[in-house]
Amino acid sequence: MLKRLSLLAAVAVAFGLVVFAASEKPAADEPKQLPIPDMKFNEVQEIAPGVFFRYSSISANDKTIPFGGSNHTWIVFKDYVVVIDANFPKDAADVIADIKKTTKKPIKYVLDTHHHGDHAYGNAVWAKEGAKIVAHKNAARLLKVNGPKAWEAEAKNRKDVKESELKQVDISFDDKYELKDDTQHVVFMHFGHMHTPGDASAYLPKHKILCTGDACVNGAFNYMGHSNSSSWIKCLDEMNKLDIDIVCPGHGKLGRKELFALEKRYFTELRAAVKKGIDDKKTPEEITKGLDFKWYKDWTGVGVVETDMNKDSVKHVYNELMGKIDHDRLGAADFPGGVAGR
Ligand SMILES: [Zn+2]
Repeated sequence: MLKRLSLLAAVAVAFGLVVFAASEKPAADEPKQLPIPDMKFNEVQEIAPGVFFRYSSISANDKTIPFGGSNHTWIVFKDYVVVIDANFPKDAADVIADIKKTTKKPIKYVLDTHHHGDHAYGNAVWAKEGAKIVAHKNAARLLKVNGPKAWEAEAKNRKDVKESELKQVDISFDDKYELKDDTQHVVFMHFGHMHTPGDASAYLPKHKILCTGDACVNGAFNYMGHSNSSSWIKCLDEMNKLDIDIVCPGHGKLGRKELFALEKRYFTELRAAVKKGIDDKKTPEEITKGLDFKWYKDWTGVGVVETDMNKDSVKHVYNELMGKIDHDRLGAADFPGGVAGR
């Protein structure tokens, strides 16, 4: 009897524990979103264990703010560091100095999220640190085909480019490239043609972080000259399917997944406005003047007709919808406008 009672007690205790655990479960399982720090330009914050974000200076309309190139994320693995984006040579050196304040481990891989200067022209600076440059195969191709001519053009404007050299990609990949040890896990992914034909994002499944390069920006920074706006919208939907807490955009502040919806809205409404303009036989200039996205200013702080970038975007979408753009050739050295871009 005693035995049975104690058994019952044990069952009850066990059951009680189970009930207790069950009642505790929702609280324990409640998704704990990583906080998003409010950061100043050039500040570095550890946004998840071993994951650092550097917020580079940028403004769509304030010319007193120097352009600091792309944002950066670096991930400290057990034996090495992985860095997202190479930036321009001067900024690459600044970022390396910042990385060394956070870890003594060697920088082993740098991902060029695409071939534009503010994401790839610092490659030689990282290589001197012993890093291998990784990029999607289309970005590697564009840097090879388009790179020398675009580099020369940029060298006229930037002393750091003039004094450095164009370094090509060491490792290129097709769909994805994965780095993993028992501390960190990063997957470089290609969703398709978005900002450029060779966009790569870095997904950190453990921390639910996605570093997007310019495939997703936070603000009036959507350069569209090498983009495929229709494919971009579809790829944003694919990105949105990932489990993500924090989006580290190529330019602008850290954000949540809501950024994808804002970007999608911008491209969708832009395409609709340009389509209507074409039907009404308007010129790209007239279409630009007629743009009226009030929500856009709430998001970016800048009116949609106030930036030269949006004027260029209208022209690009206009040419896309008029069938004047061969997306497969965007970024080729002999393609009109193919050497510019950020
Ligand atoms: Zn870019």
